[in-house]
Amino acid sequence: MLRWDDPVEFMHGVTAHERRVLKSLEVQTIGELLSIFPRRYDDYSHLVSVAMLPLNEPVTVRATVKEIKQLKSFRRRFVIIRALLSDDSGSVMATWFNQPWLLKQLKTGDEIFVSGAVTQRPRFGCGFTSPLWEPATAETLAAGNVAPVYPLTGPVTQKTLRRLIKAALSETELPADWLPDQVTAQLGLPSLPAAYRFVHAPESAEQAEKGRRRLAFGELLVYQLALRMARLEADVAGAPEIVFDEPFAKKFTAALPFELTVDQKRAVWAAVQDMAKPRPMRRLLQGDVGSGKTVVAAMLMALVFRADHSAALMAPTDILAKQHLATLRKFLGQYRIPILLMTSSSKILYEGNEETKLSPSDARERLAQGRIVAVGTHALIERGACPPDLALAVIDEQHRFGVEQREALIVSSRPDGRVPHLLSMSATPIPRSLALTMLGDLEVSVIRTKPAGRPPISTKIYAGQEGREQAYDLIRREVAHSHRAFVVCPLIDPSDNLGVKSAEEEARRLQSGPLKGLRIGMLHGRMPAKDKDAEMQKFVNGESDVLVATTVVEVGVDVPEATVMLIEGAERFGLAQLHQLRGRVGRSTYQSYCLLAASEDQGIAERLRVLEQTDDGFKVAEADLKLRGSGNLLGVQQSGQAIFKCARYGDLELMAAAREVSSEFMATDPHLEKQPSLLRVVDAMRETSHQE
Ligand code: ADP
Ligand code: MG
Repeated sequence: MLRWDDPVEFMHGVTAHERRVLKSLEVQTIGELLSIFPRRYDDYSHLVSVAMLPLNEPVTVRATVKEIKQLKSFRRRFVIIRALLSDDSGSVMATWFNQPWLLKQLKTGDEIFVSGAVTQRPRFGCGFTSPLWEPATAETLAAGNVAPVYPLTGPVTQKTLRRLIKAALSETELPADWLPDQVTAQLGLPSLPAAYRFVHAPESAEQAEKGRRRLAFGELLVYQLALRMARLEADVAGAPEIVFDEPFAKKFTAALPFELTVDQKRAVWAAVQDMAKPRPMRRLLQGDVGSGKTVVAAMLMALVFRADHSAALMAPTDILAKQHLATLRKFLGQYRIPILLMTSSSKILYEGNEETKLSPSDARERLAQGRIVAVGTHALIERGACPPDLALAVIDEQHRFGVEQREALIVSSRPDGRVPHLLSMSATPIPRSLALTMLGDLEVSVIRTKPAGRPPISTKIYAGQEGREQAYDLIRREVAHSHRAFVVCPLIDPSDNLGVKSAEEEARRLQSGPLKGLRIGMLHGRMPAKDKDAEMQKFVNGESDVLVATTVVEVGVDVPEATVMLIEGAERFGLAQLHQLRGRVGRSTYQSYCLLAASEDQGIAERLRVLEQTDDGFKVAEADLKLRGSGNLLGVQQSGQAIFKCARYGDLELMAAAREVSSEFMATDPHLEKQPSLLRVVDAMRETSHQE
């Protein structure tokens, strides 16, 4: 028998073609191959006769090839193969595209199983389109069964993947279950080896779902345990206690150019109380875009500095880090708090009115001296370049949840072994049902009310050319009032994943036509950091009127004069992402506009209506969740990989069970000493988060 960790090449009879397929899937071990899970199943469990073939329903027939030939095609190198299949009851057409080898494989007189759905197509009439087929003599792979449908990429066909996975399943000794029997028994779940068999080779749809639930439960439980063990380790390490300087807090708020909202005050107060304790704070500050999270962080950082410790603010991009620097200088500058900017391109120390450029080694040295407020990109903590007296780490725009950052903060803990307090700031509203699962026992502060005097953003969907022109008129009008506009382009070409092409083309098109005469800037992911900064700075200063950009501008950018956000190809974005983008405008007392340019497809535009109707991020998030359906996979990524391959949004009851079981473990065996194999799986999940 083969083992789970054996290379896939060890399997019998892997052809050169299959080897290439495995390579393109980045599959190296048998375990990795068996961890490609079906997206859904086609039920082929009843054979039908040709005369009884239903339309649009997956079925299997057993038929004889009466005729097979290649058809003439309009496009060169586009191969169409057509076969006439029949049984005693009648005959049906089957058409395949770009599979020239079929002419060699299928001959008149062959008897085959054909699996697929019969469809009615305008050009080709009624028949099977690219159905799966197998010789009726050979051992059947899909026919007469519930057939797994795997997610496919590139040159991989369903047939190849099914064969490989089926072979792996029969040749491999599946790993023993790492869940205690009594847990699976109590929840009525199958064992791990059974679950793999059920998922890949089910006898019925119910059995497949049973297997999926076992695997999903495992994912959810391991994730919960990873979060809780990280928390436990932080608790044991302890954090510095921050003494609250109330007179300073009063002075700080009095000096602000605005009054803090009630929710902002509550958030500050909750964090102040957390940080006064030796138990490390792990708090999430949730607030819609523009709700004013940064000033909360700034105030907490100032308080930490006043208590003779360092604080750090981390942002996902250089642009955001620089913007935070500006905010911090505005709010903290007058208290003689030294601020160090740490991005990949610049390291600058601000003290009073002095500005000193530092070399990377000087910057590290300055950090090592402590008593500083540092602001930079996430690399700041990930490379372990933290001040030794770091007492508060603020992480901005945490779209990705996960154990990652929490782990990083344990790893890079201070020389005295303690860990800093942590404040995560996120504009992604998470419905309550999911929050518990995704965030574990993180405390949450929510800013619901926006600062007063902000008119709601007027949002409108435009379709087609006419709508587009109205949008350009609006941009011209706003620019004439000294306001500014964003134009966001979607990533059209998947190979162009930084959006170089789309942004460049769109900027050129607008410049030479619809927005001729306006000053147009451009921002995309491939530009060197220096150029990005320069472009952004020009837009902030009002030296450009329109900024054509990819979703780089999604997070955090704060330009109060920006009043128009035109989003091209809006139907390509998720609701939550569109809401994020929309939040780049509406950051002042001016009326702002969000224009969603969609293609004319009605069905798609309907989905976007939610954004026209509400400005409330929580409502958008709920609608998004509903639209995506409870069948979608839980979208949590860690180090760029999906953590959940089987768990879905709809698995609320499994989530609750996972929380309950993890609580039991934490209460009775918090270091999982009695569960060595479960511990290995949990450690493996935590391990991936150290690698970045
Ligand atoms: P986000 O929560 O999206 O990060 P920001 O912190 O960037 O939002 O705040 C958006 C804008 O609102 C900033 O210009 C900030 O100065 C301003 N702001 C924050 N709090 C208040 C308040 N209480 N009253 C008025 N304006 C505020
Ligand atoms: Mg922000």
